[in-house]
Parts: sequence; C-alpha cells; structure tokens
Amino acid sequence: MSEVSGTGSTEAPAPAGDQLVVLDNVNKHFGALHVLQDIDLTIHRGEVVVVIGPSGSGKSTLCRTINRLETIDSGAISIDGKPLPQEGRELARLRADVGMVFQSFNLFAHKTVLENVVLGQTKVRRTDKAAAEKKARALLDRVGVGTQADKYPAQLSGGQQQRVAIARALAMDPKVMLFDEPTSALDPEMINEVLEVMQQLARDGMTMVVVTHEMGFARSAANRVVFMADGRIVEEAEPNQFFNNPRSDRAKDFLSKIL
Ligand code: ADP
Ligand code: MG
Repeated sequence: MSEVSGTGSTEAPAPAGDQLVVLDNVNKHFGALHVLQDIDLTIHRGEVVVVIGPSGSGKSTLCRTINRLETIDSGAISIDGKPLPQEGRELARLRADVGMVFQSFNLFAHKTVLENVVLGQTKVRRTDKAAAEKKARALLDRVGVGTQADKYPAQLSGGQQQRVAIARALAMDPKVMLFDEPTSALDPEMINEVLEVMQQLARDGMTMVVVTHEMGFARSAANRVVFMADGRIVEEAEPNQFFNNPRSDRAKDFLSKIL
C-alpha cells in the first residue's frame, strides 16, 4: 500500500472489447432484504472483472443473476446483446454461454472426470460423443489433470477437482466465465494451482467475472475491480488505483482489514 497511483484518475480504463454482459439498474430482494440495489455493470469482451467486498454484500447473488440461477425484481440483464431469457431451451443455451465455477466444485460424484466434462457438451451443445471426449481430454490436459480422466471426483484433491470444474465449464465454449470464490474451499497449498489456470485463461482473452479474496490475483489479472457493500457497487477502478488509493471509506475500511 505504499505506491501512489500515477494518474490519480478515478475512472476505470476504457476496455478494449464490446459490451458482453450488461446489468442495467438491477434490483433484487430476498424478502425484506434489498440484496442488489441499482446495480449498473458492464463487462466488455476480454475483460477480467474482480468483485470483492465483505461477506453478505451480494457478490454471489450478483453472479447468480447473470446466469439466472436467481431472478431479478427489476432492471435488465443482457448477454451479448440479448436479454436474459426467462425459461426453456433459450435459458439452457444462455446458461451454456455463461460458465460458472463455484466454491464447492459441484462435480457429478457418480461420473468420472472425463464424463463430467463430456456431459454438457453432448446434452446441451449436441456434440457427438467422440468429439466431446476429444475436447474433454484436451481441456483436462490444459488445466493439468489429463492423467486423472478416468477417476471419480472423490479420488482427486480439491485443487484437481476445481480444475476439472473449470474444464467442464470451458467445454461449453462459454462467452463469459463466472467464478464465485473458486479457491475459498481449498487447502492453502492448492490455491495457486487453480489461480494459475485462471491467470492463463485471462491471458488467453477469456471474459471473466471473479469473486475472490485473493488480492494478488486481483492485482495481477484484473482489468477492473468492483467493490460491493450492502448490495451496492460502491466503487469501481483499475486494480492499482483501487488498492493504492481507494476512494470510499467502505473500501478503505475493507482493505485495512484484509491487506
Ligand atoms: P456474498 O456472496 O457477498 O457473501 P450473498 O450474495 O451470498 O453475499 O448474500 C447477500 C445477502 O443475501 C446475505 O445477507 C445473504 O444472507 C442473503 N441471501 C443470499 N441468498 C439468499 C436466499 N436464497 N434467501 C434469503 N437470503 C439470501
Ligand atoms: Mg458469496
């Protein structure tokens, strides 16, 4: 926290790609709790947005609205220019365009690693089995677990399971990947192997929304940091600006507790 930001600008840099995910004045309640409040957020193609903020601030809910695991009460969300569909096959296709990786891996326990990565391709994308397997093996190699293809998830370490979950999401050729605290359930020695896969994805140009407490990742991989508190986006800035020179008292307070 010693450096001072060069420009003193409070604006996030102009991103390169076009608008891929747009949330326009999104509001959501859980009963009396106003969990997302007037959320305006645009994610550009190729951009890596890291979402941080205290527990309970609405980060997971925000992610879940983007692939409609949660409905919204008002506002609008569009992906690649199309409004979020409500249901049916359109929704299934949308979900395939939006890869999601959770804290708790969520692999199918009774399917092998390979089958986990094949399944969505054959069911949702209608890829034939041989092509799906070929792609699954290539993706498992890419995330460094190619030799584990015939094992079951429980036979793998947490870090390996999470890398399988990333491969499974990538198998659908998503337009954007959402990561909700992907390393929070991992033993410390396994965090880096997952972050490295994510770093590589970012370098390869994947559009990513990453909820994380890994500030090293945020500093090195993010184009933009979005800071949430109490259901609102309190501050958005490029990482150096945010970490070295946060504007809001909420962000200063949060950073003082975690850095
Ligand atoms: P974060 O991911 O930032 O910790 P969440 O989005 O999980 O925050 O939760 C935001 C708030 O919404 C919390 O107060 C949480 O208890 C509440 N919440 C989350 N999911 C539900 C739900 N399904 N029903 C009721 N309240 C919920
Ligand atoms: Mg959460």
